[in-house]
Amino acid sequence: MFETYLLLRYGDFSDGILDAILNTNSAEALAFLRAKIIVIIIAVASGLLLTYLLFINAVRRPKWSLLWLLPVAVFWLSLEARQYRHQQRMVQFSQNNPGFKIINQIDRLDNYFAHNIRQRLPLVLGDYFYIFHSKKISNLESSLTRQTPPFLAETGNPAVKHIIVVIGESANPKRHGVYGYQAQDTTPNLNRIGNELCVKSPAHSMSNMTRTALPPILSFAEPENFGRAYTDKNIIDLAKERGYATAWLGAQEIQTLFSSTYGPLAKSAYTVITPDYTTQQQAFRPSDDLDLLPQLAQLFRQPQIQQTLYVLHLTGSHAPYRHDKTDQAALPNADSYDLSVHHTDRVLQGIMDLANQHLPEYVLLYTSDHGEILVDEGGGVEHGSTFGGYEQYRVPLLLKSADPYWCEQWEQYRKRSGQFSNESVKYLLLQMMGLRLNTDTTFDDKILHSDYAVYNFENLPTPKDKNNRFWEKKGL
Ligand SMILES: [Zn+2]
Repeated sequence: MFETYLLLRYGDFSDGILDAILNTNSAEALAFLRAKIIVIIIAVASGLLLTYLLFINAVRRPKWSLLWLLPVAVFWLSLEARQYRHQQRMVQFSQNNPGFKIINQIDRLDNYFAHNIRQRLPLVLGDYFYIFHSKKISNLESSLTRQTPPFLAETGNPAVKHIIVVIGESANPKRHGVYGYQAQDTTPNLNRIGNELCVKSPAHSMSNMTRTALPPILSFAEPENFGRAYTDKNIIDLAKERGYATAWLGAQEIQTLFSSTYGPLAKSAYTVITPDYTTQQQAFRPSDDLDLLPQLAQLFRQPQIQQTLYVLHLTGSHAPYRHDKTDQAALPNADSYDLSVHHTDRVLQGIMDLANQHLPEYVLLYTSDHGEILVDEGGGVEHGSTFGGYEQYRVPLLLKSADPYWCEQWEQYRKRSGQFSNESVKYLLLQMMGLRLNTDTTFDDKILHSDYAVYNFENLPTPKDKNNRFWEKKGL
C-alpha cells in the first residue's frame, strides 16, 4: 500500500531509487537522490513508523505480538537462506569463468534475486531486503570502442550481396523434418527447397541459455573470454565497414534482464526493430514471429542498397510452445512442440517469399540460439539446465543458397571432434563479406554452460553426473 501510494504519486518508485540509495558515493547518485528526496523521506518515515508500531504493540501485548512475529521471522529466515544460496552460486560462477563478471555487469544477475523478492514483498520489507542484499555493480561502458580483431584479413570484395540470418529459439533438430523426423511433417516448406538447402549436422550451440548462446553466433565471444562480444567488433560492425546496410529485426526484447547480453549486438545495426527498442518511429509490438514479416517487407521495399545484412531473431520454439490454427490444421495430431517447429517453418517460408520477391539473389542462414530438452532424463526439460545433458545444445544449422559453394565452404569450420557449432555461422558470414580468419577455428570444441563453467563438448554434465556427485569430483 505504501508503494502503491508512491507509484500513484510519483509513478516510478523503482529499483533505481533503491540503487541510488546504495550508491551514495557517486555524485550522480547524490543528484538523483536529491531529485527523489520526498520519496525517500516518505520511505524512511514509513519504515520508522512501522518499526515504532511494532515496538509499541510488543510492549503492550507481548504475547500476541510475538505470535504475529513468528511467521514473519520464519519467512524472513527462509528468504535469507535462499539469498545465501544465490550468493554462493554467484561466487561459484565468478570462479568458474572470468567472463561471468562481464555478463553480470550487463545482466545484473547479482541483483536478480533481491529484485524478485522486492517485487513479491510489496511493502517496506521488500525495499529493506533489496537494500541489504543488492550488490553494487559498475556499469559496463556502453560506448566502449570495439577493436578490429587482429586475426582478420581481407580477401576481396564481398562475395554475397544480400544475407539473411535467422536465429530461432530452442529448436531441437530431432523434431525437424529436414533432419529426418518422420512422426510429423514439421518442416514442409524447408523440405521443398530441395538441393538449394544445405543441412549441417551434428551441430550444437555454444551455451544452453539465450544470454550466453546468442552472442557467439554474431560476435567473437568465446567460452573463456565472453567479453570479446563487447571489446571486439562484431559481425554487424564488420558488415557496416564492408558497405552493408544492416538491420536487426527481433520478436524478442533486447533490454530485459536476460536479453541484455545481445542488446549491444542488436544495437550495432543501422536499423533496429524490437519490442523494447527501435530506431524506427513506430513502436513494434509483435505477438507472433509472423509479425516480423510486414516489417521485413518494409525494409525490402526501401530503395535497394547494394549490400544488405538482415538479422531476424525469432521467438521460435521457446516455451510455452507457440503455434496457431493453421499449424493445428496441418498437423492435427502433433504435440505443441512439433506445432511450434511447423510454425517457424512457415515464418522461414514467409521470409523466403519476401526475399524472392524483392532481392535479386540472397543467402539465408538459419540456426537456433540453443536446443531444447523434450524428454526428461532426470536433468529437467527445456534448457539452461546444469544436468540436462546434450539435447539443450543440439541445434539446426541450415543454409539456403543457389550456389553450392557456400555449403562446401562451411565444412572447413567443422570442429576436429566432427561437430559443428552454430558460431560457425559467423565464420561463413565473414567469408561471404570478403574477410577471412588467420587463425584455426577447429581445434577445440568448448562451450559455456549454465553453471558458467567451460566444458569440452564431449564432457558436458548429464543427468548421470547429478547422481555421481559431480560437483565434489570437480572440486567445486
Ligand atoms: Zn534461447
